[in-house]
Amino acid sequence: MDLFEYQARDLFAKHDVPVLAGEVIDTPEAAREITERLGGKSVVKAQVKVGGRGKAGGVKLAATPDEAVARSTDILGMDIKGHTVHKVMIAETAPEIVEEYYVSFLLDRANRTFLSIASVEGGMDIEEVAATRPEAVAKTPIDAIDGVTAEKAREIVEAAKFPAEVADKVADVLVKLWDVFIKEDALLVEVNPLAKVASGDVIALDGKVSLDDNAEFRHPEFEELHDKAAANPLEAAAKEKNLNYVKLDGEVGIIGNGAGLVMSTLDVVAYAGEKHGDVKPANFLDIGGGASAQVMANGLEIILGDPDVKSVFVNVFGGITACDEVANGIVQALKLLEDRGEEVTKPLVVRLDGNNAELGRQILTDANHPLVQRVDTMDGAADKAAELAHAAK
Ligand code: GDP
Ligand code: MN
Repeated sequence: MDLFEYQARDLFAKHDVPVLAGEVIDTPEAAREITERLGGKSVVKAQVKVGGRGKAGGVKLAATPDEAVARSTDILGMDIKGHTVHKVMIAETAPEIVEEYYVSFLLDRANRTFLSIASVEGGMDIEEVAATRPEAVAKTPIDAIDGVTAEKAREIVEAAKFPAEVADKVADVLVKLWDVFIKEDALLVEVNPLAKVASGDVIALDGKVSLDDNAEFRHPEFEELHDKAAANPLEAAAKEKNLNYVKLDGEVGIIGNGAGLVMSTLDVVAYAGEKHGDVKPANFLDIGGGASAQVMANGLEIILGDPDVKSVFVNVFGGITACDEVANGIVQALKLLEDRGEEVTKPLVVRLDGNNAELGRQILTDANHPLVQRVDTMDGAADKAAELAHAAK
């Protein structure tokens, strides 16, 4: 989960990384009172989960409370690289900025380690610096067990050639930032710029944090960090029902049991789709091993609620999940939706194999639902589902 700047700023503050005060608002007029409280001037900063806000006009200084309201009016509603600005942060202005640095920690999957990236040439052109002068960017691997000790921080500071007068302060920030990275279970923490101001202090003026969703069970407080407004409504509904669902951009709804089977179902459907107007899978949905009829009903409900879906392929290999349970789930789900007065019009292709397959197939045959057809091979069923999606397009 990527965080907004203001959320990253809160996590930094929690671990004593130096930041400036700020508040988030969604109406321009609210900028006035905050700016007054901040001493009469402020920086208005667009809160969108994309970089380059400064260059896009999403970061503006306001010299008076009136100006803060005017800049908030400009920035709220702005489009930055396809992201609409719904919130701005009204932040304390930095004392005069003398230099802008870049520091980050991230998980380096390719090298199976953590990595520090640091540069004394931070600020809005860091991408260009990294691309044209890689020698200006220091990459230092970090041992997962040892982490960033004062000594390691010193090594990073030297590798990136930070000036002697800020070396201790930057090293101190690095140790605290590592604390954010580990204690908050982040995959990325980035500060750009880490500003050196006239007093000689260094301050994190902008932060980016990506948290590890797999660690959410350790952090009940992360729940409120979710951007409910931006989440895909189908994914949000699926999450609510504890379903393992990912929205994709095709037309064939997919339900299967077991991540491996579902992944290969996506491939088989994409392949079959090439012969049928290039239709593609509409989603990933793994209802898991041991899934009950209720879980199948929940899954079908989500998928049939996706307007992009033109046909559905239910691909189940019964192991712990017995096929008769799955077949009952399909029949119950359709009945549940029809009872609610929802018109179910999308064809379902069902392939059942494995544990109790014969029983499951018999249940479907007996139910004789006009929208459900059985195809007993995976390739055959994928082809049929793709054909039906194409016909309905
Ligand atoms: P980004 O463009 O999305 O990375 O947004 P930043 O928050 O990094 O802001 C872009 C630039 O605005 C920074 O590199 C700073 O030069 C400048 N900036 C940000 N905050 C302040 C501030 O409080 N005072 C001043 N004078 N400049 C700031
Ligand atoms: Mn920045």
